[in-house]
Amino acid sequence: MSPHVLILGGTAEARELAAVLAARPGVRVTTSLAGRVTRPGALAGDVRVGGFGGAAGLADWLREQHVDALVDATHPFAETITANGARAAAASGVSSVVLRRPGWRPGPEDRWHLVTSLSAAADALPRFGSRAFLTTGRLGLSAFAHLADMHFVVRSVEPPEPPVPPHTEVLLARGPFTVADETTLLREYLIDVLVTKDSGGEATAAKLTAARQLGLPVVVVRRPPLPRGVSAVSDVAGVLAWLGFNS
Ligand code: NAP
Repeated sequence: MSPHVLILGGTAEARELAAVLAARPGVRVTTSLAGRVTRPGALAGDVRVGGFGGAAGLADWLREQHVDALVDATHPFAETITANGARAAAASGVSSVVLRRPGWRPGPEDRWHLVTSLSAAADALPRFGSRAFLTTGRLGLSAFAHLADMHFVVRSVEPPEPPVPPHTEVLLARGPFTVADETTLLREYLIDVLVTKDSGGEATAAKLTAARQLGLPVVVVRRPPLPRGVSAVSDVAGVLAWLGFNS
């Protein structure tokens, strides 16, 4: 019987994995999206959209849809769905793995300040500058909303959710971005500090290179830890090996 693989998606790696699995004869692949983005783009295989109703709902879905393997390829900061995926897999007896791209690493010339949350980033920010480029996503800007003396340039794929800081300019854009683009942006908006999550990956790393070249400080929000006991791989080839397929 064809194995059914459920991918918890919302990332470039999830899209790549769906394409590779859908191209394999005899494999059924379904990607699940939260439904946050209005135009998510084409995906290979089947797609379902929207929450499952917590870990119990996801466990029911795994059983009802006869899922054989669960791959959590969600964003490193999508903490709730990752916890739910681990619980649902354990409850339903379905094998699971987390596909987590490696985090970014600072070089000797980087001026990184590591924090553990968006609110810690907001606490630290006024020490580093007064014009911040905020690339932490459209949710969670409320953590910065009280910083009325700072100017923010926020870049996100979809418009940010209020409340946002009083002095905020919004740039709607989707990566990948080049170092040249990022350098121009940082100069044009007179940015003196960058704020980012440690998302990892190539698509949005150019801002870090640009900040390094301009000597700017970067406030980096660390990743939340993975739930205890989960297996993790760092790329699509790792998932294929975990599934017992040749890459
Ligand atoms: P989250 O806080 O971990 O999840 C909140 C709830 O959204 C979950 O409990 C679940 O609802 C639903 N959900 C999340 N991902 C889902 C998926 N792939 N399929 C079905 N339901 C899902 O998630 P988030 O941080 O809001 O991220 C939402 C999605 O955006 C994720 O799929 C993630 O890969 C993507 N994304 C997130 C970020 C980020 O910085 N957080 C960045 C880029 C992309 P139920 O409990 O009802 O099942």
